[in-house]
Amino acid sequence: MSAEVVFIGLGNMGLPMATNLVRGGLTVMGFDLVAENVSKLVAEGGVQGASLADAVRQAKVVCTMLPASQHVQGVYLGEDGVFAHARPGTLLIDSSTIAPDVARQLGQLAAERGLEMIDAPVSGGPVGAKAGTLTFMVGGTAKGFDLAQPYLQKMGKALYHAGEHGSGQTVKVCNNMLLGIIMIGTAEALQLGMANGLDPKVLTEIISKSSGSNWVLNNCNPCPGVMPAAPASNGYAGGFGVDLMLKDLGLAVENALSTRCSVPLGALARNVYDLHSKAGNGKLDYGSVFEMLSKQ
Ligand code: NAD
Repeated sequence: MSAEVVFIGLGNMGLPMATNLVRGGLTVMGFDLVAENVSKLVAEGGVQGASLADAVRQAKVVCTMLPASQHVQGVYLGEDGVFAHARPGTLLIDSSTIAPDVARQLGQLAAERGLEMIDAPVSGGPVGAKAGTLTFMVGGTAKGFDLAQPYLQKMGKALYHAGEHGSGQTVKVCNNMLLGIIMIGTAEALQLGMANGLDPKVLTEIISKSSGSNWVLNNCNPCPGVMPAAPASNGYAGGFGVDLMLKDLGLAVENALSTRCSVPLGALARNVYDLHSKAGNGKLDYGSVFEMLSKQ
């Protein structure tokens, strides 16, 4: 059995993304270290494969959605990995959030083998992945971006070509550094208002129409009870984990060191989430930093 698309990494993001490719009429063969994740894709109409090497050899497109740089390097560069088996002309789409340098290196190695690779990290989280409304930030050649459109359109709404290999990851790193900083600032402002006796709902409403308005305040407010659907109102469950934010801020700080760029607030934010994670909150939504700043 062969499939047009091989999808490697069927976790919180990969499974709903691969499911949307199936719903878009494509044959998708899924691979994951956790057998149960593959079964979930098969239940949605995906295909089970025995050998990754065989699947990659026959595929037109290989998508990956893996935790971090080292996993992506292992899957592409390993002895029995994607580069070893993909036919020239195969399109490779890596949507994991990884270091821009690693994405650049993989893009170059792919080109040397006649493969078209793009880095295509996403914004939108598991909710956007399920709804097929992700934002894709793409790095690679214009040809790679064009070839990927029919596939990305089945998983996302906003598709942007940021520039050469690694550029998609650079945009992602910049975006998430800003998001991490804004969350802490928003939590601080809400705590300060509440310490002065303000109702956080009233405070949120007024700031949302003032110059401090921002995406975090308006969409995933970190104060419990302000937004019933936000992770904060549900014990900080679901959402975007502290450890994932910590990983992304680590990528930002590493990148800033290698480019001699000053990111004082990014570095401070990384340390704040690091302390919060070490206190046992790594799996909670990153908005839980609000509790860390609480007076109690
Ligand atoms: P996850 O841990 O839920 O899923 C990763 C999956 O990869 C797991 O199922 C794991 O078993 C599998 N895996 C690991 N190594 C593998 C290998 N060698 N072969 C096959 N499968 C392997 O993570 P996630 O939340 O889906 O995130 C994936 C990527 O997307 C990360 O880079 C993350 O930073 C990024 N991201 C996540 C979110 C989010 O809100 N969760 C949002 C945007 C971007």
